[in-house]
Formats: sequence, C-alpha cells, structure tokens
Amino acid sequence: MEKISIIVPCYNEEKALPLFYEELMKNIKDFPKKIEFEILFINDGSKDKTLQIIKELNKKDNQIKYISFSRNFGKEAAIYAGLENATGDYITLMDADLQDPPSLLKEMYKSVTEEDFDAVGTRRVNRKGEPIIRSFFAKLFYKLINKMTNFENVDGARDYVFMKRIVVDAIISLKEYNRYSKGLFSFVGFKVKWLEYKNVPRVAGETKWSFWKLTKYALEAITAFSTAPLVFSSIIGLFFCMVSFLLIIAIIFKTLILGDPTSGWPSLVCIIFMVSGIQLFSLGIIGQYLSKTYLEVKQRPIYIIREKSDNF
Ligand code: UDP
Ligand code: MG
Repeated sequence: MEKISIIVPCYNEEKALPLFYEELMKNIKDFPKKIEFEILFINDGSKDKTLQIIKELNKKDNQIKYISFSRNFGKEAAIYAGLENATGDYITLMDADLQDPPSLLKEMYKSVTEEDFDAVGTRRVNRKGEPIIRSFFAKLFYKLINKMTNFENVDGARDYVFMKRIVVDAIISLKEYNRYSKGLFSFVGFKVKWLEYKNVPRVAGETKWSFWKLTKYALEAITAFSTAPLVFSSIIGLFFCMVSFLLIIAIIFKTLILGDPTSGWPSLVCIIFMVSGIQLFSLGIIGQYLSKTYLEVKQRPIYIIREKSDNF
C-alpha cells in the first residue's frame, strides 16, 4: 500500500469546505486501489463553523483527519503542522478554496512515481482576477528576491506542491520560526518538475491576505532568505563616506585659494536631512534582522494544538 497525504490549511473556510471536499473526492476516486489517502485539515483558529464542518466530514469519512490550533497562527504554521503530522509516502499541500485544482493530482503523482522527479511544483502563468496593483508588486517582489538569493524563486509559484517523503523530511528539518514555505521548498533543492496552470478564482469565501499582510509577508521572505539589504546599507554608507571625503578636499582648496567665507547653509541642511534619512533607513534594516533573530532565539513553538481527531 502507498499513502498520499493531502494537507489543507483552513482559516474561516465554512463556505468553501463542502465544495472543496466534493471536488477532491471526484478527483481521487479513480486513483489505483493500492493507494490510500489521508486528508489532513489544519484548522488555523477559524472563527466560523469550519471546525464543525471538518468534524462532520471526519465522522463520515475515515480518510479525514484534523488538527485544530488554539488560535490563528497563520498559513505557514498550518503548513508546518501538516507536514510534521502527515504520515504519507507522498505529501501534498492544497488550499481549501479550490485555487489549487485537485485535477492536477494525477499528473503530479505520475511525475513523481514514473518519471525521475522528487517533487512537483505548480505555478500560475497569469494572475487573472487579481487586482492589478497586487500583481505589479508580486512581480517586483520576485525580481527582487531572485537578485538577492542564490536559489531560484519561481514567479507565480504556489504552495501547491506534491512531494516525496524525503523532500518533506528535509523541509521539516528546517526548524526556523520565520517560515516562508515557498523559499524553504526552493532551498532544499531536489529534482522538481513545474506544472503550469491558469489562475482559478476562489470558489467561495474571501481571501485572507490584505495588501498590508502581503507586504509584511514579502519583507519576511526577504529577511528570511537573504542578507543583501545589510550589504546594501554598508554600500551606501561607504559611498557617502567617499563623497564627503571628496567634498572636504574641494572645500579646503576653495577656502585656501579663494578665501571663501562660510556660506550655503541651505545646502548643508539638505545634506543633513539626507544623510540622517539614510542612517535611519539602515538602522531600520538592521532592526529587521535583529527582530527576526530575537524571535528565532526565543524558540517559541510554531503552533499550539487544541485538539486532534481520534484517527491519528
Ligand atoms: N489560511 C490559513 N491561515 C491564515 C490564512 C489563510 O490557514 O491565517 C489558509 C486559507 O484557509 C486557505 C489558504 O490558506 O486555505 C490560502 O488562503 P487564501 O485563499 O485566503 O489566500 P490567497 O489564495 O488569496 O493568496
Ligand atoms: Mg486562495
């Protein structure tokens, strides 16, 4: 027997869950009989009837397991909990809103078992149905992070990946508190096949990611995988030292030759403003890394479980 674990992080998904379950069942029922499924719902502190719906599903279908958190810990924490608790030989992560089409599962399974791949990733080739400004900043983010890290971050990559056990073990061996799963997945390497598909709008309910939340997520990703911003602030520091050195020489000459009296305080004020701005900016960058280090050092748990289904 082979087992496939499907991990589904859920936060306020009462509307999407029944549709998700139905669609998923349609897609897994004609898998070969030798394959067992484990569908692991992670209830990330939902405030609606999500947990209740999951419990009902669990009662009528033994393939369904669940873990419920003590509060909302975020999608990354839910993914980690799923990966730690899944028992399958193959493991996949899926959103509850059907934006990750279950129809791809068969092809993913095939690629991992018949072709020589360790994992299959998915990427959206368009962002139809998404606000333009959000797409713009998403593109900018991928450009930036690809310049700053030495592994590839695929533009439009989803968390919807299908992995062999070995890949999952590598990912959960990375115990960091600030988790950016897409980055961790690229970081561990292995042979990955990419499947492309057109963006599917959410089936029901609302997105949990505001623009502000996404911006914070992007900064988190950059600080988690690159120290380039620190280098950047040293470089502008050095650049300004050089400029001021040249200016000092120029001023000394000017004073000696022309005997120029002190003048030009407006320019001085501008310079003070700019330089102190840059100093604060650099301090901010250092602060970002310091705060991340602070959180890592505390070694708090990534998630806390309130209850689990009995069929674990
Ligand atoms: N999610 C979660 N915890 C959160 C936010 C989201 O578990 O704090 C889940 C959510 O239920 C969904 C998935 O993560 O299954 C993706 O969220 P969403 O569809 O809102 O994000 P989007 O697709 O808009 O980026
Ligand atoms: Mg979604």
